[in-house]
Amino acid sequence: MKDFKQVWSCGGGTQSCAIAALIVRGDLPKPDLAAIADTGYERATTWNYLDEVLRPALATVGVEIHSVKAAEWAKPSMRGVFSNPGTLLIPAYTNESGEIGKFSSFCSGAWKANAVDRWLSQTHGITRSKCVKWIGFSYDEARRVNRMREGAEFKAGLIRFPLIDDVLTNRAQAIALVEEMGWPTPPRSNCWMCPNQGDHEWRSLPPAEFLQAVEFEREIQKRDPNAFLHRSCTPLDKVNFEEEEDLFSRPCDSGMCFI
Ligand code: SF4
Repeated sequence: MKDFKQVWSCGGGTQSCAIAALIVRGDLPKPDLAAIADTGYERATTWNYLDEVLRPALATVGVEIHSVKAAEWAKPSMRGVFSNPGTLLIPAYTNESGEIGKFSSFCSGAWKANAVDRWLSQTHGITRSKCVKWIGFSYDEARRVNRMREGAEFKAGLIRFPLIDDVLTNRAQAIALVEEMGWPTPPRSNCWMCPNQGDHEWRSLPPAEFLQAVEFEREIQKRDPNAFLHRSCTPLDKVNFEEEEDLFSRPCDSGMCFI
């Protein structure tokens, strides 16, 4: 697919840092373009790491990571927390039926993948059918990889997994690659208000971001009083967070969120 542009969809987390390390070392080719979606809700640590570590390192080999703001590039009807009309886009919990249910993660596709696709198309004239998108899953993420491999984009040859197809890397090896570069440990990369966070992630939020999440929940409850950010359907500031690591939770390192 030599006429296709190679586009790295950077997620800002551990696997993305491993891809950056491999590019800087020359173990991966340089992508034609690199982009990270800016949902408007990422933890500040993600941007700090990007600006202080990844961007300077990649600049040494001539690679720039473009920030693509969802507020600017997502479909206009999908730029808010509620779509127009009225569907909650984040994977919040709901007790509307009397039992605890969950919304789908429309935000991931709308604010990340689709926003980057629209940006590519409108600023670089690269349509989705003309680029191979790099996704940073490592080979221990079989369930996520297999789901993408069943999709039309993979079958059309439009998706590449550099940590599987090029340099076979698991999560532990990704961490080792980052350490070998002398870079600090990458931060978790997910939105500070993401309902898919486990209790240990909620606990790890800086106070200012936790308070933002509390306020954010109150705002969405003005439109949907049954929507909650925590799986217990308890207001966030009333939750008694568990001490144990939550096995369900996984950060959005790949830029593809919790698929
Ligand atoms: S981190 Fe959570 S809230 Fe943010 S885009 Fe991904 S699924 Fe949505």
